[in-house]
Amino acid sequence: MRFTRTSAGKERKRIMIVVLKPNATKEMVQRMARRVEEMGLKAHVIVGTERTVIAAIGEKRDAERETLESCDEVEKVVPILAPYKVASTETKEEPTVVRTRELVIGGGHIGVIAGPCSVESEEQIMTSAIQVKEAGAAGLRGGAFKPRTSPYSFQGLKEEGLKLLAAARKATGLAVVTEVMTPHHVDLVGKYADVLQIGARNMQNYHLLQAVGETDLPILLKRGPSATIDEFLLAAEYILDQGNTQVVLCERGVRTFEAHTRFSLPLATVPYLQARTHLPIAVDPSHGTGIAALVPSMCKAAIAAGADGLLLEVHPDPSKAVSDGAQSITPAVFAATMADCRKIAEVLGRPM
Ligand code: PEP
Ligand code: MN
Repeated sequence: MRFTRTSAGKERKRIMIVVLKPNATKEMVQRMARRVEEMGLKAHVIVGTERTVIAAIGEKRDAERETLESCDEVEKVVPILAPYKVASTETKEEPTVVRTRELVIGGGHIGVIAGPCSVESEEQIMTSAIQVKEAGAAGLRGGAFKPRTSPYSFQGLKEEGLKLLAAARKATGLAVVTEVMTPHHVDLVGKYADVLQIGARNMQNYHLLQAVGETDLPILLKRGPSATIDEFLLAAEYILDQGNTQVVLCERGVRTFEAHTRFSLPLATVPYLQARTHLPIAVDPSHGTGIAALVPSMCKAAIAAGADGLLLEVHPDPSKAVSDGAQSITPAVFAATMADCRKIAEVLGRPM
């Protein structure tokens, strides 16, 4: 049997957006969500400032659409065409703002997360935290569980590293952003982190995406080095589908034929994604280039391109870093870069 594109499409889950009337009360929304569920569809309530919509996901089509459309509370029912559903601007136009402590990313706010690649010692993480905070970062990065290319490379301080991050947060108020590599560690890392980072290598680890989707912590999802934009958005969809709406997408460079930099950093991702998703987009120029000297320019370019956030490797002494020293900038370079970025952001009417 020939499997045509159209018949394959019919096998896929459908989604309809049930747009409620602007005056719909909370009770009406709940009633409609129940109604959607009773039809055998999954209901995601998406509350906006203007109005609330319910994303109805399932196999059903025309009959259900007509029934829903005839309800008093409903203004219209629209099918979503994008393969990613909850992440799409078709579902929600207004930007999602991700907040934790003083870190705000999206909706005109530019959030900066900075710190070393790995947590190495109390002194290293504490010094890093104090210095990046002083220069204007709102988030502190630092890996305690490290995904390393070689099993013989430093794998991270694990829970001890998480404790050091928590101590640095206590001292500075910075939001802790740290990677979780396996579903088994989500509870442990979640006990210490303000934001769970999903590393590039794990972008398509669907069980991990579902596990972090079940938490109520914000998620920083890094693009896989060979993932297309649709794959990236569908990975985010796994998290959103579990009910966690606080997702930041992070462009961190892709693998190309080019070898002058560690990865190739496509900044066009930023405006391209912003047209397709309401989720905020951050850029990581450290992994994107692999070369410290290139990082300040790419930070400025990312802000100019409209990025909602930056993820940056900053080390008190990059020459002594146990991981990614070559791409880590010093606190002084970080401070100067932030000052330049602020000027660019201001020109664009997006103070940072
Ligand atoms: C990191 O942020 O330290 C990291 C490991 O990044 P990526 O997952 O993008 O390689
Ligand atoms: Mn790193």
